[in-house]
Amino acid sequence: MHPHQTRKRTIKGYYFASSIQEAIAYLMAHHGESQVIGGGTLLLPMMQQKRDMTPYLADVSRVSSICRVAENDGEIVVGGGNTFARLQQSDTIRARVPLLCQAAEQIRSPQIRRLATLGGNVVSAYGNAHGTVALMALGAEVEITNSTGSQWLPIHSLFVKRGVSRVDSATEIVTAFRIPARRAGQGTAMASLPAAGAQWRSSLVLAINIKLNKGSVVPHGVALAVGSTDSAPARLDEIEDELLDLALDDAKTYDILGEAIRADAVEQHRLDAADGAYDDIPALAAQALERALDMALSDGSSTSTGPTTF
Ligand SMILES: Cc1cc2nc3c(=O)[nH]c(=O)nc-3n(C[C@H](O)[C@H](O)[C@H](O)COP(=O)(O)OP(=O)(O)OC[C@H]3O[C@@H](n4cnc5c(N)ncnc54)[C@H](O)[C@@H]3O)c2cc1C
Repeated sequence: MHPHQTRKRTIKGYYFASSIQEAIAYLMAHHGESQVIGGGTLLLPMMQQKRDMTPYLADVSRVSSICRVAENDGEIVVGGGNTFARLQQSDTIRARVPLLCQAAEQIRSPQIRRLATLGGNVVSAYGNAHGTVALMALGAEVEITNSTGSQWLPIHSLFVKRGVSRVDSATEIVTAFRIPARRAGQGTAMASLPAAGAQWRSSLVLAINIKLNKGSVVPHGVALAVGSTDSAPARLDEIEDELLDLALDDAKTYDILGEAIRADAVEQHRLDAADGAYDDIPALAAQALERALDMALSDGSSTSTGPTTF
């Protein structure tokens, strides 16, 4: 898994950048033959398998500015080079963006958590990417930097289809994510279906983000994000709207939510029907909603007055 294992056979140049400017200069100098690398957990195995590999790699994992976590005016800025292990260790993430911690906890391999970056998770655009689905439910924005400067985009605008994002990692670097910090009365949770067959990743990943006003269990904000082995990460806008009028502690709400997410998954062919896992979706959704509700109510003096959109 370490870069050096494949470097001798397949790679002409491997550059550890110490700044984003350096990384971009390297990409430009080898234009058409170069690519960004983060933890290499996806890219290096792919390069080992394929013959048409990219010969020059700009490694951004040692760039300190993209490994930061900072709080700024109610928002948390998370560098795109943060690994899942680092996110788990961050007190700021644990307290202010607990959904990202939950995402990291669901990645079962410690080696992957130690190497894999949040930026790489998003750019690779797989639906069953825990970090990406969490960021979708949080309504995060992503900062993309290239030789002409940086721009912030809503994360949901990045995905073209499963495995294809709008970030061109031959010229662009995901430098940061901007995430609204958790407020009182807000609850988040993530749940995954186990890997199917010989796969090593969850077959479906679901994230929920709810906001309650004090003394009410009818949410004034709901975000639901889902992704699977066979689909790109997506927000479930219609189901979000349906939940806005419902009491989240009512058993009927759990039935409505579970059935709606199951029906969406069937309609969008999110799973391989042969493995029969569609029937497990309602229980998964109920588990996530229950945990999100517990968190939202755990503040006691729930006083959320924040925006109702994510
Ligand atoms: C055994 C195994 C188990 C896994 N389990 C899980 C799991 O449970 N959940 C999960 O979500 N994922 C899982 N993954 C997938 C993978 O580890 C993640 O998607 C990971 O976050 C990719 O990040 P990386 O830094 O390793 O990306 P890399 O492999 O370095 O790169 C992947 C792609 O992203 C681009 N890229 C990387 N960083 C940047 C950047 N900052 N800017 C622009 N482009 C960039 C690269 O050019 C490349 O195209 C697993 C992988 C393996 C091998």
